[in-house]
Amino acid sequence: MTQRQAVGVRYRGVSKWFGDVPAVKDVDLDVPDGEFLVLVGPSGCGKSTLLRMTAGLEDISAGTLEIGGEIVNDVDAAERDVAMVFQSYALYPHRTVRGNLAYALRLRRMPKHEIAERVEAVAEMLDIQKLLDRRPGQLSGGQAQRVALGRAIIRQPNVFLMDEPLSNLDAKLRVQMRAELIRLHREVGTTTIFVTHDQVEAMTMGHRVAVLNDGVLQQVGPPREVYERPVNLFVAGFLGAPPMNLVEAELSSDGNGLVARADNIYAPVPTGVARAVESMAAGRSIGLGIRPEELEVASADMAAHDASNVVVRGLVDVVELLGGESYLHLTSGTQQVIAKVPASMSFDAGSSVTLRAPGNSAHFFDLDTGLRLD
Ligand code: ATP
Repeated sequence: MTQRQAVGVRYRGVSKWFGDVPAVKDVDLDVPDGEFLVLVGPSGCGKSTLLRMTAGLEDISAGTLEIGGEIVNDVDAAERDVAMVFQSYALYPHRTVRGNLAYALRLRRMPKHEIAERVEAVAEMLDIQKLLDRRPGQLSGGQAQRVALGRAIIRQPNVFLMDEPLSNLDAKLRVQMRAELIRLHREVGTTTIFVTHDQVEAMTMGHRVAVLNDGVLQQVGPPREVYERPVNLFVAGFLGAPPMNLVEAELSSDGNGLVARADNIYAPVPTGVARAVESMAAGRSIGLGIRPEELEVASADMAAHDASNVVVRGLVDVVELLGGESYLHLTSGTQQVIAKVPASMSFDAGSSVTLRAPGNSAHFFDLDTGLRLD
């Protein structure tokens, strides 16, 4: 099957108001040709609205949207050559799978033999050949979602827009469809914007992830970069499961340099951060973040703190066994801390535990602006 050339999408100052309510605020974003971009954010942050504006299903209140270098603000949805896949599948219930796949091509008055060829090719790609004569009511959720994808693929659009397409599938099917979508994208190379609020999809599916909160784009970058260097407190707390431990810590100086402390949590402050907070100095509060997977159980006689370790002392609250690993919930003074530890370790509720993490794994944030400090 021949594919058209992929086309990029560019947002310049794109905003959307529903009456007085701003849903998307001044978004600048470039999605280059062939990229798989994952758009994540909490419920109501404006993900669907941004996608629907891209599809032409929603007017743009301000700014410009370019697809393939052309401003399309005033171009009808039908003329945009984008295909949208919804969470609800949106199949025609009275048509067979074959009829659903062929529908858009029939509308274009494509010759019958060409339609038949494309239906076969797409059915093979998605492994739904045996389902072609069924109706949507006779399909499982996973099969229906494949047909919905097939209906988008068969049009050979310039851009795919996917709005939480896997969220109605059970856990096992999600894993399978995730891999299939990645493979499919590798095969057809069409620019794709994929909306989700699923942590795993955000981290694993895209070339880049764009994090949206309250209509404002927070950070865009490769998943690893966004995970390892979140630009602000929101991104730090949003990406990751369980989420990053975030506490309000107080700065103080000792023989080893600057230390951030919150109850029995100590973190050495690296020089880059120390320079940034120089003017604030001792006594000042700072946001301290530690990922649960960076923490490991240490011996109880470990020094309270030193220049190369984050140290957390606390009492075991709850242990959640998840199969291969456990989530250890600790209370450290007034702070709650979660650590990911091997499932083979056992803990008694109420017992005291010392955890350590590499000194350079801590994240620091300005509590006034929420911005990362280094
Ligand atoms: P979810 O993950 O829950 O689907 P979302 O991130 O996709 O959420 P949107 O559906 O884009 O969020 O909604 C963004 C904001 O715009 C929300 O505050 C929502 O209530 C509001 N909104 C969306 N559609 C409309 C509408 N037609 N009229 C008024 N307000 C709307």
